[in-house]
Amino acid sequence: MNKNSAKIRIIKRTSLIVGILAVFMGLFFVGKSFFSPAKGVAKAEQKVQLATVLPQQNLSKTAPQEYNGQVRKVAYLTFDDGPSKLLPQFLEVLKKHDAKGTFFFVGGNLGRKDLVPYVKQAADEGHYVGSHSMTHKFGKLYTQGEFVDEMKEGLKMINDITGENPKLVRPPYGSMPGLSEELRNKTAEAGIKVWDWTIDSYDWKMKGNPQGIVNEVMKGAKDPVEVILLHEHQQSLDALEPIIIQLKEQGYELEAYDEKAHFPVNFWKDERL
Ligand SMILES: [Zn+2]
Repeated sequence: MNKNSAKIRIIKRTSLIVGILAVFMGLFFVGKSFFSPAKGVAKAEQKVQLATVLPQQNLSKTAPQEYNGQVRKVAYLTFDDGPSKLLPQFLEVLKKHDAKGTFFFVGGNLGRKDLVPYVKQAADEGHYVGSHSMTHKFGKLYTQGEFVDEMKEGLKMINDITGENPKLVRPPYGSMPGLSEELRNKTAEAGIKVWDWTIDSYDWKMKGNPQGIVNEVMKGAKDPVEVILLHEHQQSLDALEPIIIQLKEQGYELEAYDEKAHFPVNFWKDERL
């Protein structure tokens, strides 16, 4: 075999490998787009997702879709510790600005009969309603390992009220450090999804200082996908309208969590959750 034909063989083999790689990467990307949060846009984008554009794409799980050449920005406003008597006012502000939110309710509060109609209203108005445990107690949830049982009970209560069958929960105090590998295994086996957050508003410690909350959120809002932690407190309610307005000014769309387009947001980076 002379030098040239050896060279040609190497070139042929290399092109074959590159070709196969390109096809695999293309398949991966199309699959990923399909499960991404911006599902509507993802569908439209699929036909133009060629392997050749792959190197320029951010392949992180939360990668947004492009739309008309613009990166789509989505902010998920999440509200913990309700339902509270402030819930109807939170719903009013969201409705006024055509924004959707995600509520994580505590089982103990879901037992309040006077609040049940607002829980139903939240679901009916297109917000996502998930569980934030029954007791909110660190010892019970993590030390005694009752996390999954409490979440199942909470999700069942929500199902009874809204008719929805939610799977997403917000771990009290965040999933780290409490949600051990053993508990995460159980959670994954139960088909429960866990969302932490990407922006902590620190609203709970800013009583009487809604501007401080707005600043904290806007300081953190940098990435195309943000999950914002808020609580059903008066100061958070007061901060909500400016937060929505300013996020929109920054190009964010305010969406509720969508199970069909789930992507992991947990401090453990556990892809199963
Ligand atoms: Zn909480």
